[in-house]
Amino acid sequence: MLNKPNIVILGAGYGGMITASRLTKELGHNEAAITLVNKHDYHYQTTWLHEPAAGTMHPNRTRMPIKSVLDLNKINFVQDVVVEIKRDEKKVILENGELDYDYLVIGLGSEPETFGVPGVQEYAFSKWTVNGAREVKEHIEYMFAKYNNLAEKRDELLTFVVAGAGFTGIEFIGELSERVPELCDYYDIPREKVKMYVIEAAPTALPGFDPELVEYAMNLLESRGVEFKINCPIKEVTKGAVHLADGEEIKAETIVWATGVRGNSIIEKSGFEAMRGRIKVEPDLRAPGHDDVFVIGDCALIINEEINRPYPPTAQIAMQMAATCAHNLKALIKGGELQSFKPEIKGTVASLGGKEAIGVVGSRKLFGSSASFMKKMIDNRYLFLLGGPSLVMKKGKSPF
Ligand code: FAD
Ligand code: NAD
Repeated sequence: MLNKPNIVILGAGYGGMITASRLTKELGHNEAAITLVNKHDYHYQTTWLHEPAAGTMHPNRTRMPIKSVLDLNKINFVQDVVVEIKRDEKKVILENGELDYDYLVIGLGSEPETFGVPGVQEYAFSKWTVNGAREVKEHIEYMFAKYNNLAEKRDELLTFVVAGAGFTGIEFIGELSERVPELCDYYDIPREKVKMYVIEAAPTALPGFDPELVEYAMNLLESRGVEFKINCPIKEVTKGAVHLADGEEIKAETIVWATGVRGNSIIEKSGFEAMRGRIKVEPDLRAPGHDDVFVIGDCALIINEEINRPYPPTAQIAMQMAATCAHNLKALIKGGELQSFKPEIKGTVASLGGKEAIGVVGSRKLFGSSASFMKKMIDNRYLFLLGGPSLVMKKGKSPF
């Protein structure tokens, strides 16, 4: 077929990978040309990144070559960085070229939200990517290595601050607090020298989550030496310190920023109307006024009508959106009804390091090792969806 439509997918995260994989099954080679653009030649699992960041997992376990999971005979993979989307010209500008599209899928993920707090970009670690995780891990180890080599011991080298007690902050401190005894042992540092703080602006950690589970998580983390400062917004970060709204200053050479996310800045740069970088999509996941542009994952905003607030951006929703997006692209190309997207929230489970976790699945609350088992099963399920049993065998987690 001469005029087969060009589908261009931006971003090989949860949304982009599942969309691409589904499309290869739903559309024949002659029905559409599918191009996937990503800045790396690998796909990584953002949801595992707190582990390599704290050094409890090798970063390579969180990633896989794109060619090992997608059939590149059916997909044209372009390794490049998206710079801008020219909506009127139906073009994507890349660092090293440009692409024309008939249909575009935006799945470029998120960027850290700083809420305008000064100093975050300069003095805090905020990149939840493979390279970002490598940098934090190396920095933490360097702080331990440096401590005993200085004539004057500087406690701030062994002070670790996590900004935000959302799921990212809690999962990261869970891993770090598990690892600290091993680091102290390796670098000959007394355990009591290490200080770990989690600083949260809201009146509770994990705002909106089940209070009993929040209490379980806080008690467990406190028993590992974590100190919570709740109801304490950070108002500024300077070199080696965080400054709290109540005037307190905490000196720390490691500040890990996890106060939430906003959509990829390409969205606003390309002139789409957005709220914190996210496009409020139509029920069929297209951008308002753009019949040829689908937006999925962390770049898309959908409202939970029951509470009249946006759904939190999660991998769970990104993957479900990808399935609807692939279906709707097929319907537009081959004919058929477009589906409205309806998230099916199966639950939320957060790891706390080691064999500990908390979660709600359906109406069941889970604590400790049963929650940890469930978390690993969820992680493996995604691998199964993407690459079948062989990917689970290669990259999966032992649930025990
Ligand atoms: P992503 O998976 O982030 O993928 C975006 C892709 O786009 C990446 O490959 C990136 O390299 C690429 N990209 C970005 N910019 C460009 C560019 N300019 N040019 C080319 N390529 C680009 N959610 C859950 O449901 N469960 C969890 O347990 C969970 N745990 C999490 C733990 C951590 C530590 C973090 C940080 C997040 C967690 N989340 C979890 C949230 C979840 O990871 C995100 O909601 C999800 O990754 C969004 O998927 P996405 O496809 O929109 O983007
Ligand atoms: P979040 O928005 O869930 O939490 C950020 C926290 O930072 C909030 O509690 C907020 O009150 C706090 N905060 C904001 N500004 C602050 C300041 N100046 N000082 C101190 N605290 C401040 O963001 P997140 O934890 O980065 O998560 C991002 C998304 O990823 C969410 O949708 C989350 O549900 C998802 N996620 C899910 C899991 C899981 O399901 N296991 C794990 C990690 C992330």
